Amino acid sequence: MLTDTHNHTLPFSPDASMSIDELIAKAKSLGIPRVGITEHYEIDMVYPDDEVMLFDLDEYDRTFTEWRNKYPDGPELLKGIEFGYQTHTARAIDIISSCHDFDIVILSNHNFRGEDVYFSKIVYDIPLKARHAEYIGVMAEMCENCNNFDVAAHYDYINRYNPDNLEKVLYEDCPKEFDRFFEALIAKNKCFEINTSSIKSLIEKGNPSPMPDPAVLLRYKEMGGKMISLASDSHKPETLGYYFNECAEYLKSLGFFEVTYFAGHQPYTEPL
Ligand SMILES: [Zn+2]
Ligand SMILES: [Zn+2]
Repeated sequence: MLTDTHNHTLPFSPDASMSIDELIAKAKSLGIPRVGITEHYEIDMVYPDDEVMLFDLDEYDRTFTEWRNKYPDGPELLKGIEFGYQTHTARAIDIISSCHDFDIVILSNHNFRGEDVYFSKIVYDIPLKARHAEYIGVMAEMCENCNNFDVAAHYDYINRYNPDNLEKVLYEDCPKEFDRFFEALIAKNKCFEINTSSIKSLIEKGNPSPMPDPAVLLRYKEMGGKMISLASDSHKPETLGYYFNECAEYLKSLGFFEVTYFAGHQPYTEPL
């Protein structure tokens, strides 16, 4: 089984429903050699009921050492964080990222016009192409404005809670924005994530073609993109490693023959 680079646990990610022990037990049962723990860190975001997605970073450092000591036989734990990007938080993200010894730093755009897509009431009222162009444009800006990161996560998060079961994020929706996004990613030698939670959501909605748009991946490759990470973005044990075998076959069919994970911000590859 391949490395699952992006997962969330309690208590650091309040929207998770698994402990580190539950995640590790599941990883062992699946034969996953390595898991990224990438807890949510959303600077300057307040959710309904005044909830925040922030945690004590020094406490996280200490706890992570305890976790590693508790499981010396693996799976290997990659110490990570998932920053939610907003334009005015770029500098803070870079500073925090450089002050802690993370293995893997993931950048995400969870927002649409100041609200998390999950809570937004207006997002799907915006016409599809304009909505996708705006969202991917922010992904591009995120990669241009930030430097201390390894992976740009779930480019298709904008569609994850879309009630229209047939809509997907396609390259043809906003080619200019995709090209700008890939240009920044590739110039900085950062990694493009395939997030299987997005695939799971499309399968559950009944989309007969749930895999990422091949044109997105082929354009990334054509522009010189090589690094792809696989992520289940699990918040519960059941989804760990979800659809990884199918994704591996799909990536091979498009000419990608390895995936990347990060340890100490260094990229390592695994063959598909
Ligand atoms: Zn995310
Ligand atoms: Zn996540």
